[in-house]
Amino acid sequence: MSETDDLRALMEADRWIDRVTSQRGHLPEMAELETVEGELRTLAKALKEAQAALAPVRGAFEEAEREANRLRTRSESLAATLAASTANARELAALQHEVAHVRELLDRSEDREVEYLFALEPLDEVVQSVKERAQPLVGRRSALQAAIGELQSTLGDELGALGDERANRAAAVAAPLLAAYEGAKARAGTSGAAQVDAGRCDGCRIALAPLDVDRWKAIPAGTFMPCPECGRLLLP
Ligand SMILES: [Zn+2]
Repeated sequence: MSETDDLRALMEADRWIDRVTSQRGHLPEMAELETVEGELRTLAKALKEAQAALAPVRGAFEEAEREANRLRTRSESLAATLAASTANARELAALQHEVAHVRELLDRSEDREVEYLFALEPLDEVVQSVKERAQPLVGRRSALQAAIGELQSTLGDELGALGDERANRAAAVAAPLLAAYEGAKARAGTSGAAQVDAGRCDGCRIALAPLDVDRWKAIPAGTFMPCPECGRLLLP
């Protein structure tokens, strides 16, 4: 193999590694996961707001419920006392008066209980609907996370194998040429060499000036002209 072939093999290995690395960092599943997480954040905020609106109404309802229960017990106990009473007329009248008073309070308390119950229903529905919308998204998030983990692990294995192959190809390139290649790669990224395709460097995609094309064509075998734009070694 000529030095040009060795360099080309190394360039192709580096380009392949770059493609797989880029693929690993830009999986479509990652973009979808970001969208799903954004939707879940929005729903979490909506849920918090709905729960904040619900909490005081539920508290008031429970308070009215407790109060109604207390009054109901009191009313029943007074009615029992009245039924069993052998008290005189004045005491009986006082007892009847108290029974009537407690029943009035109980009526009002039960009305409040019903009012709060009606106020609770739509707020409860909002909370439930937010939870229902979030549920499938939570499932999708887990599925995406698992898929991304698997894909990245597979691509990681592939990169490991490509790295070994790359090391073999680099070992085949003579030391000074390899140093020039690695220097160009460190500056330009992706690879340290490029090919001229229709008058353009296929590393940076910039067209070479006609004079540079002439220089490149005239360069002796085994020497490599750097691209005037990106510095990658231009392969014949
Ligand atoms: Zn270039």
